[in-house]
Amino acid sequence: MQTPPPLSIPFNKPYVTGNELAYMEQVVRSGKLSGNGAFTRRCQEFFERRYGIKKCLLTASCTDALEMCAILAGVGAGDEVIVPGYTFVSTALAFVRQGAKVVFADSRADHPNIDVDALESLVTPRTKAVAFVHYAGAACDMDAVSRLAERYGIIVIEDAAQAVDSFYVGAANVAPRPLGSVGHLAAFSFHDTKNITCGEGGMLAVNDDRFIARSETVWEKGTNRADFFRGNVGKYGWVDTGSSFLPSEITAAFLWAQLERVNEIQTARKAAWEAYYEAFKPLADGGAFQIQTIPPYATNNAHTFYIVCNSQNERTGFIEYLKNNGIGAAFHYQSLHKSDYYRERHDGRELKNCDRYSDCLVRLPLYCGIGRKEVERVRDVATAYYQSVTKKVP
Ligand SMILES: *Cc1c(COP(=O)(O)O)cnc(C)c1O
Repeated sequence: MQTPPPLSIPFNKPYVTGNELAYMEQVVRSGKLSGNGAFTRRCQEFFERRYGIKKCLLTASCTDALEMCAILAGVGAGDEVIVPGYTFVSTALAFVRQGAKVVFADSRADHPNIDVDALESLVTPRTKAVAFVHYAGAACDMDAVSRLAERYGIIVIEDAAQAVDSFYVGAANVAPRPLGSVGHLAAFSFHDTKNITCGEGGMLAVNDDRFIARSETVWEKGTNRADFFRGNVGKYGWVDTGSSFLPSEITAAFLWAQLERVNEIQTARKAAWEAYYEAFKPLADGGAFQIQTIPPYATNNAHTFYIVCNSQNERTGFIEYLKNNGIGAAFHYQSLHKSDYYRERHDGRELKNCDRYSDCLVRLPLYCGIGRKEVERVRDVATAYYQSVTKKVP
């Protein structure tokens, strides 16, 4: 078999600031490699201060942080949790592992985020929590969510995996709120496809006092080790459920090198996103495809630039055409309610918008370091493809 030529514009390129190795070496020389050390605390405090979160705990992945959310929320057998049908497996898996039933919610017609207006019809006396994904880093309508949650006593969990350094813009007289600080609990990801990365990593955010004390115990294998180190107890032991959710200091050191540069990384990504928007808007205005939108109550953290094609065939052809021209592009989630694992347990409701994004959404190359020239090349190749499939492109 012939190996295909390397892509001249890959879909993703994890950004490295240059300080990662030095910080990791510092950890190696210190002789303390396990978790919950100085770099871990630095990363956690960074999130607590910059984003106004009450308590943050670094985890080995966002999946881990979501599992901690499910444990802390007390979700178990007999409970229902509302989750978007259009999201990564982990958003649902965290609750399913606890024995809960997941009730999938549809996306909005104009955005992959949950359709908040349709949410109330999914609430039952068994609804314990609702998990929101801020897709592409764009906020859900959190005021509407919070009102609903308060009325029914539901715990709000933000899957903020893609939403580092993004905000919810609520009422005019209230300052924008950082995503991850709005729900009772939240989870961030530092996977190498995300804006800030350490390869694999995540962060639990706790905004409700009820969950703070227990969060450390769950994080440290169900032990009261944190209390012991604060001198509050004479010895530590097994006091609760939990797991080894914390990463090593080597991971935390890598992450710190990125967090130090968050402004620089975000500025570069936003410039690339703006260049895409400007380049692709005329095609979308002409009716070739649907372009990404940012709701009025959301800010853009430039996690992703995507378009929505008119059909699955059109998308398959587009991705292939880009690839043949040296450009990497990727579709995204497959509807979870139709997955092999959950199909039989799903209640049978159709989720039309969710399926449309599943079939038609495509993400274009976006990373720290992509320039205007590359973006224009992607636009030119896209234009050529759309000229060949529709009369809407002159
Ligand atoms: C990336 C992602 C996850 C999983 O993050 P990991 O750190 O890889 O566990 C979960 N939810 C969403 C919405 C994501 O984008």
